[in-house]
Amino acid sequence: MMLKRLCIALAILMVISGCSSNNKEPQEQQHDNSLDKVESTTTQELEEEITAPNGTLQKKDQGEEVTSLQKALREIGYTISDNGVYDEATTWAVTDLQLQFEETPVSGVYNEATQKILSIVLEDAEAKFQPGKALPKKAESTTTTYGTPIISNPYDQLALVNKEYALPGDYLPEDLVTPNVRFPFTEDLPKKQMRQIAAIKLEKLFKAADEAGMDLYAQSGFRSYDRQHAIFASNAAEHGEEAANNFSARPGESEHQTGLAMDVTSPEMNFQLNTEFGKTDEGIWVKENAAQFGFIIRFPEGKEEITQYQYEPWHIRYVGEKTAKEIMEQGITLEEYFEE
Ligand SMILES: [Zn+2]
Repeated sequence: MMLKRLCIALAILMVISGCSSNNKEPQEQQHDNSLDKVESTTTQELEEEITAPNGTLQKKDQGEEVTSLQKALREIGYTISDNGVYDEATTWAVTDLQLQFEETPVSGVYNEATQKILSIVLEDAEAKFQPGKALPKKAESTTTTYGTPIISNPYDQLALVNKEYALPGDYLPEDLVTPNVRFPFTEDLPKKQMRQIAAIKLEKLFKAADEAGMDLYAQSGFRSYDRQHAIFASNAAEHGEEAANNFSARPGESEHQTGLAMDVTSPEMNFQLNTEFGKTDEGIWVKENAAQFGFIIRFPEGKEEITQYQYEPWHIRYVGEKTAKEIMEQGITLEEYFEE
């Protein structure tokens, strides 16, 4: 990419200075100051245009910074629009880039770590990287066995997963870790895990809860597609598929598969997960403070029609501080956040 730009710059310089490869008569080399000026501005303009912007940008953001980001992504080979709107395509490109650099946390959010790797690729044409290699664009949309459309970017920190948008059956987050928080059991089960970006913040949330005198426990985090399949099949066998769908998720449709959700509870609740939790000190504290750490109450009271889930004061979902604050302050759901 750098090479292409260099060639354009060279071509312009050659035209300006009147020399080209098929120039048969060598011209007198006369020094002309005004010409130097033209040359340097032209080169500078070409160089200035494309750099990795500063700051944090994420889905739904708009403006010049987003346009610069999109231009930089196009420069390194992504075929996306530079419309100034951080859309699904921009999120895809950022996620794909992040996935190709092992040390970089994957979130679909453009941040300092992403700026670093974007700059590397912009400056080094030899950088080991290939647009679309880690997260190939799917030619056509696919659905689950229940007919639910499958989302194309499960790594996105802002991925909307519900009864209408499912995760791919083979999606297993690669960055699952066990957060250092209290659990009411000691076995080393997969449900203790979360994706690293969320686990770090859950630890902070628990620390703050401790300091506030709350006795908070984590009950259930990551759940694989297969595990969800088994749970749903058992619920459907007992209650019928339709009834089961009201209180448990069909495989692919559970946020627990994202590795970004955790069910929390307390000794006062006997570690159960039910709506009474919302009235306990711990439940009230979680609702008031989760957003500071990037979490939302995913299924709020009174929004059952929108989320298609009963009120679940215990289920918190990581979306990042910016979105969490907006959602919790406005008292809306993730579905409403993405509505125009
Ligand atoms: Zn849950």
